Amino acid sequence: MNKICVAKFGGSSVANYEVMQNCANVVLNNPATHIVVLSASAGITNMLVDLANGHLTAEEREETMNKITAVQNNILDGLGRPQELVDEIDRHLDYIRSLAHEATLETNSALVDRIVANGELMSTRLFAELLRQRGADAVWFDVRKIMRTDSNFGKAAPVIEVIRTLAGQELVALSQSKIVVTQGFIGANSEGLTTTLGRGGSDFSAALIGEAVDASAIEIWTDVPGIYTTDPRLVSTARPIPELTFEEAAEMATFGAKVLHPATIQPAVRRNIPVFVGSSKNPRAGGTWIRTVTDTKPTFRAVAMRKNQVLLTLKSFNMIGACGFMATIFGIFAKHGLSVDLVTTSEVSVAITVDNGFSGGSSDGKSSLSEALLKDLRQVCNVTVEEDLTLIAVIGNQMSYKTGTGSKVFSAIFDVNVRMISYGASSHGLCFLVDSKDGDEVIKRLHVHLLD
Ligand code: ADP
Ligand code: ASP
Ligand code: MG
Repeated sequence: MNKICVAKFGGSSVANYEVMQNCANVVLNNPATHIVVLSASAGITNMLVDLANGHLTAEEREETMNKITAVQNNILDGLGRPQELVDEIDRHLDYIRSLAHEATLETNSALVDRIVANGELMSTRLFAELLRQRGADAVWFDVRKIMRTDSNFGKAAPVIEVIRTLAGQELVALSQSKIVVTQGFIGANSEGLTTTLGRGGSDFSAALIGEAVDASAIEIWTDVPGIYTTDPRLVSTARPIPELTFEEAAEMATFGAKVLHPATIQPAVRRNIPVFVGSSKNPRAGGTWIRTVTDTKPTFRAVAMRKNQVLLTLKSFNMIGACGFMATIFGIFAKHGLSVDLVTTSEVSVAITVDNGFSGGSSDGKSSLSEALLKDLRQVCNVTVEEDLTLIAVIGNQMSYKTGTGSKVFSAIFDVNVRMISYGASSHGLCFLVDSKDGDEVIKRLHVHLLD
């Protein structure tokens, strides 16, 4: 059996008929590419979330439906409006309209997932037809046949072993003979109900599918030619990084490089599958290869930031000399399904950061910090909540073993208040929190001092 490549295209790459042609070029130029994973066209998921949250007036809903329809029509027009496809897209639009009305009466995360899934379902229908018109033997595939998740609607967790078994039954043989076009972001629970993996989750989907079929490579095609030393929208001197280790890429994705969903690297690491990040518009510009070993290992590789961080300071005098306080606290976070990022401790208190950001967040856009969690924490300790913080991550190699790492980083921002520092757990990263208003400036200065 031939090893195949999985190629994923993000929202801006499938925004309209014209840019979808770039994606087709990428797919057709690599004979190994037999599975194509797509996001919804740019902007569609946000509009579907608005409809699903049930707050829009009838007029606003109609306006939003018109915008969604215009995007589909642009692509359908380019394709010459084949009747069967026009009918299929109309069915999706009618379904969205009726579910959006249902959402105004009462909504919930399961309904949000049923609505937002239509973005990916439509973009894949359209792109499969575009590939066929370009002469490819392409088939549309409903990823819910294989992408089994738990029932945590809005941010469901994949069930890896089941996905592998189902992919073996439904996808592996098919992808040997055809180009399979399927959806990122969405899945189904054991009852067949539609779920989503959280915002920006299509990268994760591509990696999970790559893992399930033992792909030769997972390609993430986006609007930038690779992973940069920092977000190129923020720092004009940022430059693409030709190669990264899995550890470095995981730190970058986790701590704010939006170009990759935070969970993307895990499936690739489990099967040692190289991941490529490149630009669908400009594939010749090259990109970033992420693999186990790289030729270079610079101390400072990149800087990233994650906005909307919440710092919880948990204080209890019972902590002095006591065992089990941390276990109790982490037990409460686990019970509420919330992952903890940075942690520091003192004799009587623990400081913990929680991500309230967008990428990787729940599809319904709800804050991860619930009143129920805070209430449980308050039963065992005094809780202080600080918002409007930004997490800054400096990513590199052997950082905690090199003399002067800390002074190089902090001398660059000597006049900025640093609220918390986490360092030493991983030799690939140094993380700290600053006030949100300082975030952009800190990234710019660190880039000049450490990477320019
Ligand atoms: P897609 O829709 O293809 O999934 P995203 O918008 O999710 O694309 O991610 C691509 C964007 O990520 C880029 O346009 C860029 O602004 C942003 N980004 C943030 N950090 C980085 C980084 N370190 N390198 C490259 N892009 C980054
Ligand atoms: N369409 C989804 C989103 O906008 C998933 C993705 O694009 O990766 O979050
Ligand atoms: Mg993305």
